Amino acid sequence: MPGFELFGEEERQEVQDVLDSGVLFRYGFDQARKGHFKALSFEKELAKCLGAGYSHLCSSGTAALSIALAAAGVGAGDEVIVPPFTFIATVEAVLSAGAVPIFSEIDETLCLDPGAIKQVVTPRTKAVLPVHMCGAMARIDRIKTFCEEQGLVLIEDTCQAIGGSFNGKALGTFGDVGCFSFDYVKTITCGEGGAIVTDSRDLYERAHAYADHGHDHVGEDRGLEGHPILGLNFRISELNAAVGLAQLKKLDAILALQRKNKRMIKDRLTGVPEISFRHIPDEAGDSATFLSFFLPEEARAREVAGHLAGAGVDGCFYWYDNNWHYIRQWAHLKKWSSAAMLPAQQFENCPDYSKIALPRSDDIMGRTLSMLIKLTWTEKEVEERIQKIIDALKE
Ligand SMILES: *Cc1c(COP(=O)(O)O)cnc(C)c1O
Repeated sequence: MPGFELFGEEERQEVQDVLDSGVLFRYGFDQARKGHFKALSFEKELAKCLGAGYSHLCSSGTAALSIALAAAGVGAGDEVIVPPFTFIATVEAVLSAGAVPIFSEIDETLCLDPGAIKQVVTPRTKAVLPVHMCGAMARIDRIKTFCEEQGLVLIEDTCQAIGGSFNGKALGTFGDVGCFSFDYVKTITCGEGGAIVTDSRDLYERAHAYADHGHDHVGEDRGLEGHPILGLNFRISELNAAVGLAQLKKLDAILALQRKNKRMIKDRLTGVPEISFRHIPDEAGDSATFLSFFLPEEARAREVAGHLAGAGVDGCFYWYDNNWHYIRQWAHLKKWSSAAMLPAQQFENCPDYSKIALPRSDDIMGRTLSMLIKLTWTEKEVEERIQKIIDALKE
């Protein structure tokens, strides 16, 4: 799964270009930079690869979410519908925007259930933020239709699903804006990095300005640029962008390897009694970073997780107990433990997160196991793995 498995000469060469010029900043220094614009090149390649109108590269996936929320006009007191199964960053970004995360149930896609969203919409709902978890898609067509009908902003957290698609259209391009992460353990990596993509020129310009202290990026002299809005600094360095540029060129190869390895395992596990696979609305668009499946009951899922660990099958996740990816362990959220003052806490519409009940999500997550799909496995290693998994499921 992680692009760092394929780190090599290509990444070294891109970084070397930057080191040779000494220009680590993405803007300006045109003479010295010898034609190398790594961040800008990455943005062009990413937009092309996803079929998006515009892309802006930033310092992290979390930054991308913050930029997306700001550029889409989501702010103090606005409600944003999020799933309880995601990396905590999704929730943190909503809170730091001053907005109120509203949790809605997931379904067997392991992503937001489009049917459940209806039940949590209020007049204060401003945006829906589905997360394409573990490499595959939410029922994004239905979520999009719902947002259009209700006039809600749609922001896709695609941090875990670059290269995924639904009916041939790239994940991250269904919403008003899509967010990506290139941290060290994602499908492709910049070391640290993120990006937003959008088809709206207006949204792109606000995002670009917001991510760089409000600069309008018009004219030759950065010091003389206008500042139509206030912003922050979510810039990426040319060094990180250079690594990402090399990685992006490997994306197709990475996806092909993931899909091949996943297919081998999934084919052999198909028909094993007890397990059923995560529902993937468009199998062909699965980026295949993970294989996820359900056991009939929570107790059995825990038992199988134990057998897999005992057999040395690495890269297995029982998300229900995970500190970072499921609401159950988010005591900090439930107690409002943060270094910052979070405005959401003061709004009447803010739920008491210690009392949120998500019985369907709990039931699904309690029965779910996921396995990382690696890029560097040999066929023999995949075969051995399959045998261990089958044995663990027989115990
Ligand atoms: C990784 C991740 C993020 C945050 O990305 P960073 O680059 O680590 O800040 C956000 N959402 C999801 C679903 C993620 O997996």
